[in-house]
Order: sequence, then C-alpha cells, then structure tokens
Amino acid sequence: MGKKPVIGILSNLLITEQGMFPGMKRSYVNHDYVQAITLAGAIPVMLPVISDEEGIRQQLERVDGVLLSGGYDINPLYYGEEPCKELGFILPEVDEHQLAAVRIAVELGKPMLGICKGMQVLNVAFGGSLHQDLLQIPTSIKHSQKAQRHVASHTVQVMQDTILSSIFGKESILTNSFHHQAIKAVAPGFVVSGMTADGVVEAIETATAPFMLGVQWHPEMMAEKSTDMLNLFTRFVAASAAIS
Ligand code: MN
Repeated sequence: MGKKPVIGILSNLLITEQGMFPGMKRSYVNHDYVQAITLAGAIPVMLPVISDEEGIRQQLERVDGVLLSGGYDINPLYYGEEPCKELGFILPEVDEHQLAAVRIAVELGKPMLGICKGMQVLNVAFGGSLHQDLLQIPTSIKHSQKAQRHVASHTVQVMQDTILSSIFGKESILTNSFHHQAIKAVAPGFVVSGMTADGVVEAIETATAPFMLGVQWHPEMMAEKSTDMLNLFTRFVAASAAIS
C-alpha cells in the first residue's frame, strides 16, 4: 500500500483558567477534524501555532494539504476595522500563524480547505473583510444553532460550475451552523459558491489555485453520518494527493 497523503491541521490554543495550571496554553484541534481527515483516507498531523516565518514554511513543506480549522474571532484590525461591541474573544497569535500559513501555502501550491474561522481567514488573507457580528445583518436567519453538532439546521444554495457543486452535485444542501460572524467583502479573486436565503456567504473558492475552498459550516461534525460531507474531505484529500 502506498503512502497516504498528509494533511496538516492548523491548530488552536486553549488557555486554561482553572485547574492545576491557570493561564497555561495548550495546543489543540477538535478531534472531529482528525476523524474526518482519517475517514477521507489521509494522515492528519497537527501544526501548532508558532511565530517564526521560516518555521511555518518548514511546517507546510512537510504536508500535502492544509486544513484551516475553526476558532476564535479574527482580530478585526487585520481587515482594517476597529472592534465592534459584539466582537468575541480574539487571540492574535493564532491569527498570525494562520495568515502567514495561507500566504506560504499559496507560494508552495498546497491545497487548502478552510472551515468556519478557517474560511474567514482565507478571505481576510486575500484582502476580504468580515461582518464582526450577524447583528450587522438585521434580516439574517439563525446561524448559531441550538442542536447537536451534526444536525443540519439551514439550507445553503450551491452556485453552479463551482468546486462546491462538483462535490455535492446538488443545487442546495443542508448544513449545520455555528457562527456569529460572516464574510462582508469577498476577497478579490474569490467567488461565492454557497449562500443561505438571507444572503450570508456560506462558501467561497478560487480557481486560481489547485484547490482552495472555504465553508462557513462544520462538515467535520457531519462527516461520520453524511457521505456528502465526507466527500468534501475526500475531494480535498484527492487534490492534496495529486500535488504530492
Ligand atoms: Mn450559517
């Protein structure tokens, strides 16, 4: 059996405020990402937050594809805005790792899949901006579902002739939703490939790279029960295998 492709998952930091080590940081990814990448036939590796540019480059040189995971809010200063009152917790050192990783991964031609905050990072890295809170879209539907994480709670329209439509083969799909922010200005070079009825952007992609797709929902939480959602990871893994 040949070697499986390796997917680097850009990791997050958890700051513990209770227990034995208050204030200590732990590197982590949610295990759903690990399971989804494994189910899709690849080897997941965690890429922890580091700040050295050359170190980040060497992290990325060792993987075939890059998964940008979800997390805290992005510091709005990175897209030229002052913080609004509804902005949540920010952890700029995580943002800086992810933004640098996107820039370097583009140089190296690595396929990228951005999930939730990961999609927003892709958008900001290429010059787009965000609504800091969905209150800025008064007509928006509910995007912070109160249901189990694998449960689909809203409908996403899928635009024709996109990577997303080639994955799902449907005009609309049902997804879960756990976000209070959304894309405002779409980054130059990207197109919207998924949207809810209220106009909120649920997926972006670009044809200028081997595979670069961002989704606002959490397919990794649905992949165990949904072959469609697993297929999203399988396509990402296939694109990563193709360049390695
Ligand atoms: Mn949503």
